[in-house]
Amino acid sequence: MKTLKCDLCEVTAEGETFETWMQNLMPHYIETHADVMKTSTPEDQQKWMTENKARFENA
Ligand SMILES: [Zn+2]
Repeated sequence: MKTLKCDLCEVTAEGETFETWMQNLMPHYIETHADVMKTSTPEDQQKWMTENKARFENA
């Protein structure tokens, strides 16, 4: 189980895998970073996935 911070603030989420971590972070993202989600393009989302997967794997 890994604990990793949100990429935009100090809130943490836990997960056994990157996919689980992302699922656990999602409610926080929707609540706190809804504006970011709303304005993100598919390219932004792809970039987010790549960057955060790397961050998770190096944690
Ligand atoms: Zn956050």
